[in-house]
Amino acid sequence: MTKRTRVRFAPSPTGPLHMGGVRTALYNYLYAKKRGGDFILRIEDTDSQRFVPGAEEYIIEALAWCGISPDEGTEGGKMVETPSEKHPHAPYRQSQRREIYKDYALDLVNRGFAYYAFDTPEELDSVRAAAEARGETFTYNHQIRESMRTSLTMTQDEIQAMTERDNRWVIRFKMPVDHIIKMNDQIRGEIEVNSSTLDDKVLWKAADQLPTYHLANVVDDRLMEISDVIRGEEWLPSLPLHYMLYEAFGWSESRPQFAHLSLLLKPDGKGKLSKRDGDRLGFPVFPLEWKNEQGEVSRGYREDGYFPEAFVNLLAFLGWNPGTEQEIFSLEELTEAFSLERVVKSGAKFNPDKAKWFNQEYLRKRDTGSLASDLSILLKNRGIDAEMTYVANVVELFRERAVFVHDFLDMADFMFTAPENYDLKVKEKFWKEDTSEILDQVINMFSEMPSFSKEDIENRLPAMIKENGWQMGSVMNCLRLLLVGESKGPGVADIMALLGKEETILRVGRKSLLP
Ligand code: GLU
Repeated sequence: MTKRTRVRFAPSPTGPLHMGGVRTALYNYLYAKKRGGDFILRIEDTDSQRFVPGAEEYIIEALAWCGISPDEGTEGGKMVETPSEKHPHAPYRQSQRREIYKDYALDLVNRGFAYYAFDTPEELDSVRAAAEARGETFTYNHQIRESMRTSLTMTQDEIQAMTERDNRWVIRFKMPVDHIIKMNDQIRGEIEVNSSTLDDKVLWKAADQLPTYHLANVVDDRLMEISDVIRGEEWLPSLPLHYMLYEAFGWSESRPQFAHLSLLLKPDGKGKLSKRDGDRLGFPVFPLEWKNEQGEVSRGYREDGYFPEAFVNLLAFLGWNPGTEQEIFSLEELTEAFSLERVVKSGAKFNPDKAKWFNQEYLRKRDTGSLASDLSILLKNRGIDAEMTYVANVVELFRERAVFVHDFLDMADFMFTAPENYDLKVKEKFWKEDTSEILDQVINMFSEMPSFSKEDIENRLPAMIKENGWQMGSVMNCLRLLLVGESKGPGVADIMALLGKEETILRVGRKSLLP
């Protein structure tokens, strides 16, 4: 029987989730859902020094916004703390599981796979300094562990005395010597490392009674019956140790399969996409806006106006492709199409223009009614209460050019409020001596029109201009200036028909306001 697919996203709450982190969560989600499996959220907060308040809530909210909420680990937007049928492994926050790990660390010591190390920070500093003086770098490994203050060279009584004396000791993994660790990665294939190149990592610290990432991560993956570990490339160097831990615990048979995802790269491909790049290069790197403790705000895809579906779609394509021409995928379609075989080994360059393209595609797919209701919320925030059918007509007229819903606010601002300022360069170019008089005649003609549709306007206005021998360019551009305030926007007849006869006459009549 094949084991049930269970994957976990295991972030440390050290700040907001970077889009690379969301991609890791998304790939885990897609992988699990395709197999009818479980997607679990576990909070790896054993490093209390790096804990950032609000980060956990942020992570949960970001996943919910993307539509990839975990099956296990959260309930009602909070981490589950007590076990239940649906969440049998609670708590899912490692700091609340602290009692679990010590026994595992001690078990390794008792069976000779780990040892106590009593070196004080001062002692470690001096060994490090001595090594540096010799031009070497200090590594706590098989070559030096016998010469350090460890349980490897002590009697049982000495060890007991030392562990009882104070809390300044740790448990380190005793990395075997000259052992070829053969690993398999679902994206990278076979990997081999000689254990002699690895150091003796700390697994557990008496000072805070907490495990380090490695021990907690491996133990929890085991206890939570994780079948596949899909995580960022930065954890690949930890894989040999994790393999050795599975071996030491006697769990190799049920070890999860591993897949390490390549990095997201800056738009120019030079280096990893960092948290600071967004603000520097003008695009968001976080799913949601984040305000740090100093009050500095980093922009988020949500607040920048991205649709969550577009964000998920563009994220999926950063490091994966379906092998076909299709680029627009719903979450369900992604679930269907996703496979680790099609995840690339090389880094994925982030292209901010392509990100916008995705959003525009989703905007084009939206029906006018739903865009109008999104837009009317933005309008209300600006104190503008417009009728829904009117808003929908504006959306219809401008939708081809919008990338985000908020673009309507900029592009079509004049459809909701009459211009207060006028572009004088336009006036200089098109306003003639007789323009004011011409516009009076145009207003008269408008007021006599029984109906004011775009077609009606197109039938009457150009004909009137021609009959009177007026300059088409001059009249039309001056009309636009009075309606819009500048020379942007769709066709003048479109604008006038939508504004309606009354508003059009009002705006054109304001010509005396032109400086
Ligand atoms: N806590 C680790 C992180 O912050 C998890 C790595 C893993 O998935 O094993 O990314």
